[in-house]
Amino acid sequence: MELASFVERYSRQIILREIGVKGQTKLFKSRVIVIGCGATGTAVAELLARAGVGFIRVVDRDVVELSNLHRTHLFRESDALENLPKAYSCAKRLREINSSISVEYIVDSVSADNIEKLISDVDLVIDGSDNIETRLLINEACIVLNKHWIMMGVERWYGMTKFINASKGACYQCLVSRRYRRRENVCEVIGVSNAIVSLVTSIASTLALKYLLELPVEEDLFVVDALDLTISKIKLNRNPECPACVKKEFIFLNKREGERIRYACGSNIIEVFPEKILKIDFSKLRENNSFRYIKVFDDKVAYIKIGDIDIMLLDNGKALIRNIREFSKSEDLYNNILKELNNLGAIYYL
Ligand SMILES: [Zn+2]
Repeated sequence: MELASFVERYSRQIILREIGVKGQTKLFKSRVIVIGCGATGTAVAELLARAGVGFIRVVDRDVVELSNLHRTHLFRESDALENLPKAYSCAKRLREINSSISVEYIVDSVSADNIEKLISDVDLVIDGSDNIETRLLINEACIVLNKHWIMMGVERWYGMTKFINASKGACYQCLVSRRYRRRENVCEVIGVSNAIVSLVTSIASTLALKYLLELPVEEDLFVVDALDLTISKIKLNRNPECPACVKKEFIFLNKREGERIRYACGSNIIEVFPEKILKIDFSKLRENNSFRYIKVFDDKVAYIKIGDIDIMLLDNGKALIRNIREFSKSEDLYNNILKELNNLGAIYYL
């Protein structure tokens, strides 16, 4: 962007003593990842894009649903009706909001296999996930790679957020009960108000911008109550027995079982991996009308719907299957899809 339009675009920020041209340039050179494109992740991603953060990577494994819309500002009815992957839709909207920044989207689940690669080249990690297990995984990966991150959580009328610098203070594991154990097949529906999302994400975005601008950042836990309209700042000390930041026992990060079928981190989505390394050429699919309901996004990912079952198929052959409980049925379905793709000449074994 030319200097004149850069200054004009961000003039109301640049005029702030704490930002100025120097700070605005820092934001433009900053790289951020947002893990999870739900209500919290997209709200922070939008504010950072508008503020001029130069690189934003967004990651999510789901498609937009109608039940997301009451609290997710960035998505529209058409996104849900078109079954758009959240990461794809989020990136598209961020580019519309600010075409001068770089936005990258990844449709995938975040796991021990890929988290270190995903966060290795960014300055700050934003947690927009919806489960404790993913946060514990982010926590461990950030300790290993010495990254800072911002945790967010919302439920009903309550929420919390914290800037986490595990090299200095309490990490996320320090907050979580020591009795927490890995759970599988979690499928719980809890209500959430849209007001709490806005309150928590406003605080989280402020923490993110302050960190990127190299201003002092509060490391307290912010606890927000949208019913009483109160914000509490809680000082946290490191747990001297913390398995993550003290003992460096990385339970979630080291769980790379190499299973072909498993539950995605903190969810009831079943992940199926191909037996051999392969590449799917989705362009072959569009020429063929006999395939079941399928939508392809940027030749990178396909969304397949068979009855109530949703399948997100990545071009490396990994599938994320929703609404099936049995591993055996998921595997049968997966094998049938791959067979069909193979018959179309769309699979290349590497
Ligand atoms: Zn800790």
